[in-house]
Amino acid sequence: MNKEPKRQNPQLTSRCQTRRDFIKVSAVTVAALTTATLQAEAARQWLNARRIQQVAATPLDRDVKQVHSTCLGCNARCGTRATVQNGKLVAMSGNPYHPYNTKFDPIPYATALQDALATTAPVCGKAHDAPNYLNNPYRIVQPMKRAGKRGAGRFEPIEWDQLVREVAVGGKLFAHLGEQRVFPGIKGLAQDTLIDKEAPELGTVRNGFVFIAGRDQNGRLEFTNRFVKEAVGSVNRVGHTDICGIGFRMGNLAFTEKKDVEIKADPVNAEYILLFGANIYEALQPGVNTYGALVANRSSGAKVKFTVVDPRATNASCHADEWVAVKPGQDGAFAMGLIRWIIETGRYNREFLTAPNPKAAEKIGHACYSNATHLVVVDQGHKQDRKFLRVADLDPAATGEAGKGYLVLNGSGVPVPFGSVDQAQLDAAATLTDATGAKVQVKTAYRLMKEGAWEHSLDDYARMAGVERSQLERVAKEFTSHGTRAAVCQYHGAGNYASGVYAAFPIAILNALIGSVDRKGGYLRGGGEAAAWDSGLYDLKSFPGQAKAKGVMLSREKASYETSSEFKKKRAAGGSGYPAKRPWFPFTQGGLCVETLSGIDQMYPYSCQVLFTYFFNPLYSIPGGQRYAETLESPEKVPLHVSIDIGINESNLYADYIVPDITYLEGHYGFLTPHAPALKFTAIRTPVVEPVTGSTKDGRSFCLETFLIDLAKAAGLPGFGDRAIQAKDGSWHPLHCAEDYYLRGIANLADAAKIPEAAAEEVAYVEHNYPVARHKGLITDGEWRTACYALARGGIFKRRYEDDFAGENHRFGLKRVVLYNEELATTRNSLSGAFFPGTIKYTAPEDAAGNVLAEKDANFPFALITYKMNVHAQSRTSSHRWSMEVFPENFVVVNQGDAGKLGLRDGDLVQLTSPSNSLGTRGKVKVSALIRPGCLGISFHYGHTQLGASALPVTKGEALFLGGRTVAHSGGLVGDPRLGTGISPNLLSRLDENLGNTPLVDVVGGIPDFSSTRVGIRKIPG
Ligand code: SF4
Repeated sequence: MNKEPKRQNPQLTSRCQTRRDFIKVSAVTVAALTTATLQAEAARQWLNARRIQQVAATPLDRDVKQVHSTCLGCNARCGTRATVQNGKLVAMSGNPYHPYNTKFDPIPYATALQDALATTAPVCGKAHDAPNYLNNPYRIVQPMKRAGKRGAGRFEPIEWDQLVREVAVGGKLFAHLGEQRVFPGIKGLAQDTLIDKEAPELGTVRNGFVFIAGRDQNGRLEFTNRFVKEAVGSVNRVGHTDICGIGFRMGNLAFTEKKDVEIKADPVNAEYILLFGANIYEALQPGVNTYGALVANRSSGAKVKFTVVDPRATNASCHADEWVAVKPGQDGAFAMGLIRWIIETGRYNREFLTAPNPKAAEKIGHACYSNATHLVVVDQGHKQDRKFLRVADLDPAATGEAGKGYLVLNGSGVPVPFGSVDQAQLDAAATLTDATGAKVQVKTAYRLMKEGAWEHSLDDYARMAGVERSQLERVAKEFTSHGTRAAVCQYHGAGNYASGVYAAFPIAILNALIGSVDRKGGYLRGGGEAAAWDSGLYDLKSFPGQAKAKGVMLSREKASYETSSEFKKKRAAGGSGYPAKRPWFPFTQGGLCVETLSGIDQMYPYSCQVLFTYFFNPLYSIPGGQRYAETLESPEKVPLHVSIDIGINESNLYADYIVPDITYLEGHYGFLTPHAPALKFTAIRTPVVEPVTGSTKDGRSFCLETFLIDLAKAAGLPGFGDRAIQAKDGSWHPLHCAEDYYLRGIANLADAAKIPEAAAEEVAYVEHNYPVARHKGLITDGEWRTACYALARGGIFKRRYEDDFAGENHRFGLKRVVLYNEELATTRNSLSGAFFPGTIKYTAPEDAAGNVLAEKDANFPFALITYKMNVHAQSRTSSHRWSMEVFPENFVVVNQGDAGKLGLRDGDLVQLTSPSNSLGTRGKVKVSALIRPGCLGISFHYGHTQLGASALPVTKGEALFLGGRTVAHSGGLVGDPRLGTGISPNLLSRLDENLGNTPLVDVVGGIPDFSSTRVGIRKIPG
């Protein structure tokens, strides 16, 4: 796909230019580009043409700068080209070097910058709203401290030094409000006293520090790890993978034996894609700008067919072969039906499945093999029950690695080491004699998978999925009609609900049945980073005095209940040891912010002392998250709460302190690797404008990094301040500001990627256009020139999509996938003590006590489903003014047949109630044929009560908010009702009364439930 830049100006390429010439010419180029972009925008006609004219940079504009960076309008991570005029961000377009802006077909990496600047690339609508996100008048620019009771919204500005001192040391911080309580500080937690001497596995009091990150990104992730895990020494640094989409990831986690979770159909080469809960024209990662655009493009050229499996006909359904209007939470039933049909009809890839080892797979042209033929012990009396039979189990003379090898049955039914044959029996069971002379029953992994599928008939699966059997059969036939050029693309909707692991696992296994894993056109993982950024020239990973975080996380993720003191005590008292007070999650991808908050609420397995929340709004963004209002309000459960964010949201309304942060346009330095499929790159995020927040006395902007650095210094923690970073030559360097860390990371990356130094005019361009350039003295001249090559191009994009393939196989593939997962099969449910199934098994969405939710809540007639719109990220884009003008509110989408029965019309006001919210919430009806009967669809993004939507009694708000007197006066913050329109579906979500009435989660992986809430609907007067 190599090709020349799409548009070139011969004047620019034909002569060598001075820096002055180059800057002058690039301003002209910028103007041409901007004009082209704006014309395209105008053609779209969803932005006001006059506004576009107002922001247009023209050739007459002198002070126009452009910066290549990475978007965070959503987490798809496209490249951006920010156009900045007189210091103000005026427009966003795409980066033509970046594969995500070019449908995986970027300009060659070596293209000179001036030629690249003459080339356009798109971004999606969310990115265009970046100026409004940046200049949101409700952004906070000064630190603030609570000036009333938690949740009252009464805050006042404080000095930076006071903020840092109080959070570092603690004390009677709110005595002036009559609160005599002593608040803990960070300093007091940095010690090695055990939390509980009788439960040493929980770790030390360091773990009382809990840091929960919302929208996390590499770069800031490692920086905050440095503070939380390596300076304070707490294990409780938690991401938000659970609400982001842990469900489908759990299926892939089981399928790949924890090797990878991000795997998708190849949109470039697939002939057929089966989409499960993947909203490719409106969301996804890579997003609407990339994956969706590619599939749309190829679909319009009849190069790919696809099927949408979703209770809602997503925008992609307009191009889809079929829309399978599956029942919410029943994707697993549909996948199980497909599997059964594929086996019954023999339309599986027998050659792939019978290859028992990598060499055998290679001989038939595959880079990946499966464990379909490997023998599993199915003998409750045997010590290896539920595990794979190993060579040493039959032959005690086999030791070391040879003894650990799997066994298969050869053509004669004789057990042999899996590496010794090119083919093995697939659908088999046997009784063997082990090394002790005892009989042992075994079955192949394939047989166990098949038995799982055979637990229900095809008619049953179709009924449970809520589809016609003929449609199930039709989709199965299509899926198996393209050889290995077909795959599934499962995302958030596929398994983000209770019991979701056993929906997403069979969906992943479908790819193994047709042998498309690691194949061009098949099921592909991401290719990973271009090069390391945290080591090399500068060691950003280790430092003197570095702590090693130990113990059990408050979420209990990746921890075994059976090794806990709680379990042992219960056993010693004569019981089974079960149930645990709350579920533990030894087999999970992790990032369980919901269970962390539930752990904090229940003070289990220990108490939180200091909570930091960063870019996180759990009360709004977690299904049922409103439940945590009482958690955050409680000084016993959350003794000290510090939020780091850009505004006052529904959750940090309860904080004791709010630290102003910068947006991704002013900082958030990051190193962004690709989501699946394929590709290998590292994009860089760098500031495009100077921060709008206030600054410290020495001129550093208020933000996450400045806060953690100053806090570490005030608390006497290692890893920050003087002598914090060691260079390869042994010299030491300080960590006083964000650039001390990130610019050295960029230098590391550029050096490790072996890119050349930038040409003089490119260095000059970066120094004129990029805010980071004023820190160039932190690294050597040579390092800076090489870093400029990467900065000018927005990252390292040396490899092209096709480079990731060797013939038909992905070079960086999974290599091995499983139909039976031994680790999962030997993990117990910490509430019931029962083993989890090691292979596929239809499991209806259940609560923690095993009650089927659809039956339990059958008196609520409708199923609630949620979705994302293409102009919003989930919870933080109410400040996107242009998107809000186009779609000022969201709706309760009702199927037209249901609406007819209920007498509902567009615009009618309805009251919705649920088992966990009897008071309910209200919204406006939109009648549609594009939703399954019996479902109500509500998008996220709307129904905010904060982020400017409400007035708040803030003191000196004029100084606290970016909008100054336009949003605040002596009476406090003035709310803008346009920011609070619509309805939030999460207010209705199901809680689990078996677990302290906290948000419902899956007991295997900790998946929060987005699909099992049942609701009632009632028309009310408008
Ligand atoms: S999909 Fe849009 S908002 Fe998301 S990263 Fe790409 S351009 Fe930005």
